[in-house]
Amino acid sequence: MRRKLAAGNWKMNGTTAALSELEALTRAFPSPTVDVLICPPATLLHRAAEAVRGTGITVGGQDCHAATSGAHTGDISADMLVDAGANTVILGHSERREDHDEQNEDVRAKARGAMDAGLKAIICVGESLEQREAANTLEIIGGQMSGSIPDQSTGENLIVAYEPIWAIGTGKVPTLNEIGEVHDFIRARLERRFGEGVGRSVRLLYGGSVKPSNAAEIFGVSNVDGALVGGASLKAADFSGIVEALEKT
Ligand code: PEP
Repeated sequence: MRRKLAAGNWKMNGTTAALSELEALTRAFPSPTVDVLICPPATLLHRAAEAVRGTGITVGGQDCHAATSGAHTGDISADMLVDAGANTVILGHSERREDHDEQNEDVRAKARGAMDAGLKAIICVGESLEQREAANTLEIIGGQMSGSIPDQSTGENLIVAYEPIWAIGTGKVPTLNEIGEVHDFIRARLERRFGEGVGRSVRLLYGGSVKPSNAAEIFGVSNVDGALVGGASLKAADFSGIVEALEKT
């Protein structure tokens, strides 16, 4: 059985005051029946880890460097994320791929570093609108998976997030059939590469404009094991609605 996961990506949002949202979330879900993860900016990570200590909620990073240490000004290693209290890191988010020109091989190297440090890696894949309209979605997703997911992946350390770029922060969501088609494809690819046991145990998240109002129907789609949520994870009231929908799935 794959444990459901509601993951929040705060992106470059939040200073000290935002910790009150995390505290509200811990009050709403003192022992959630699904996994609940918040990935705040790195500056809040340690305090966020303290805020959720002893609850069922965990915290993660939004990126890490592939190396364990060294002359990489401004970067953060996976070991540092672990030291700050993280158990997971988001890698290859489309905003990182676009803003920092991250290629599949960069994501793969980072994922290796993260897994070696004991972190779970949420590896993001997703097509642009042009690629979808050109009917290239599955080819793009397949290429991103082959290039970004390292060989050492297991059902424990790998989570794949399908995030169509055109659905992120736009309010646009693919149809349920479109989500199901991609998630079934990702599952089949994982089974082919890693074998049925591992392939079936990796959790697959959908991400892109998930809200309390559409969460339940998305969670009903085959091979959707939860969500990676941006905007609606910033307020405990919104994210709670998504966690509740997942708990009822
Ligand atoms: C994201 O950036 O991972 C995301 C899914 O954002 P939003 O929920 O705001 O579309």
